[in-house]
Amino acid sequence: MRKKTTPKLRIKNLPRFLTFSAMSLIILVIITMSLFFLMNKMAEAFNTQKQILQTSSANSSDPNAAKTETVISNNQQNAKTETKPQVTDDDPLADIKARLRSGDTAGIKVVFLTFDDGPSENTGALLDILNEYDAKGTFFTTLHDNDNAKAMYRRIVDEGHTLANHTSSHDYDLYSNPDAFFADVEELDQFQKSITGQKETSHVFRFPGGSTNSNEACVQGIVSRGFNYSDWNVSSGDGCSDPPPSDVIAQMIIEGCRENDVSVVLSHAELKESSRNAIPIVIETLQDEGYVFLPMEKDYTYPRHLEV
Ligand SMILES: [Zn+2]
Repeated sequence: MRKKTTPKLRIKNLPRFLTFSAMSLIILVIITMSLFFLMNKMAEAFNTQKQILQTSSANSSDPNAAKTETVISNNQQNAKTETKPQVTDDDPLADIKARLRSGDTAGIKVVFLTFDDGPSENTGALLDILNEYDAKGTFFTTLHDNDNAKAMYRRIVDEGHTLANHTSSHDYDLYSNPDAFFADVEELDQFQKSITGQKETSHVFRFPGGSTNSNEACVQGIVSRGFNYSDWNVSSGDGCSDPPPSDVIAQMIIEGCRENDVSVVLSHAELKESSRNAIPIVIETLQDEGYVFLPMEKDYTYPRHLEV
């Protein structure tokens, strides 16, 4: 009788056969998945290339396309920027400025530091001091046609101070000839614009020697020409030939400012050393007491010695 060896073999080899089949199946699945993955990638690459070609073609046929894309991008950036809070709405000085405009100044603590007759060789150091304390000043300048002065006219404007008009020549004799006086004022106005590049000057004015040194015709003419003029209610006394020490000058200015809601402090651009060194003491002390040092503007209310 023939030995039935095959079934025995099949049974014996079954686990190996099954293992072989399972392995083959797994390999087949892996190969299929790999092929599928590879085809997807190729299709993806093909589509990207197609898009690049389409964009390139659009840009080359329409030169504005790239510009448009840039503009859209900029607009998107602007839109993001616009969502930020507006700083101007939160100006902590808005109320004070409004009251300076209306003249309702009771109880406000404002100091206008003013420096006449410059720019001088000391104006740069003075600007440095003001900037250090984030305090603003007003410079009633005359006409100085030299390189340092020109740089100072520009710094005054660029650093947020007020460049004001104190006539071109500072000649008291011109008060007796109003037309010549107004021409002198206009000469400085044009000069300031040519140096700073401003289209309009501040139109803040101070009469040489103060308004009482002037006369009604000159005061009326200044106002009718769109200027606002200011005298002062605190003097730094820096005109003395033998000025007191800095702390004495500082104390005098500080006490003067405490007497007013709105103080206009008269100093001169020459600012001797003791006067210059008094400025930081004045600013530090009064800032600690809640005073603010603002640049003058045309529509504020100022102390005047002569009204017409
Ligand atoms: Zn002067």
